Amino acid sequence: MKILVTAGPTREAIDPVRYISNRSSGRMGYAVAAAALERGHDVVLISGPVAIPPPAGARLVSVVSAAEMQAALEARFGWCEALVMCAAVADWRPRRPRTLKIKKRGAPPVLHLVRTPDLLKRVSARKGERILVGFAAETGPGFLKEAVRKRRQKRCDLVVGNDVTAPGAGFEVETNRVAFIAADGVTRLPLMSKRDVGRRIVDWIEKRAAPR
Ligand code: C5P
Repeated sequence: MKILVTAGPTREAIDPVRYISNRSSGRMGYAVAAAALERGHDVVLISGPVAIPPPAGARLVSVVSAAEMQAALEARFGWCEALVMCAAVADWRPRRPRTLKIKKRGAPPVLHLVRTPDLLKRVSARKGERILVGFAAETGPGFLKEAVRKRRQKRCDLVVGNDVTAPGAGFEVETNRVAFIAADGVTRLPLMSKRDVGRRIVDWIEKRAAPR
């Protein structure tokens, strides 16, 4: 299958030297890409700035901002049969990034933020037969309810939900504890390596694609 994976954070410029971002390491998305390659799929990996090497065999498209990720995603969405949207797209960006570095002297700057577009929601409007997998990184016990809502709102076939504050789960660690939220219900998976979570996601996609 042709599988498009997004991974990592995006960076939204404040000025030429400063930005807003988040703690995504890219590990989960890179693990999905590696698991898909292991199974012989054709993989394009759209990645925000991360400190880990891409899996061998993936075609890497490096982006920085949400706007760049949107352009890369929209350009390749037509190609894919499945999209796994692991990227932690920044939710806000500074309205007007400064062209020159903001000086420290004087009053601290006030940042005026605006929302970034929801990339997954936008491409899902032209979903067709594609299999869409989204992620929901939540904090706290209500994470399943939020993931169920996001699955409907973003027209995903599967949402992989996790409480990023749970031990061994979420950002900057090698393991994750997730739940699969699909039309037929919720499956909680035990704590496992991100590579194994990636394999389970690829299994799910393959099964879903099989009867077609
Ligand atoms: O941030 P949120 O919890 O809404 O993310 C859920 C899903 O939506 C993730 O798969 C994420 O990659 C995607 N998303 C997106 N564009 C955004 C925010 C989130 O595609 N601006």
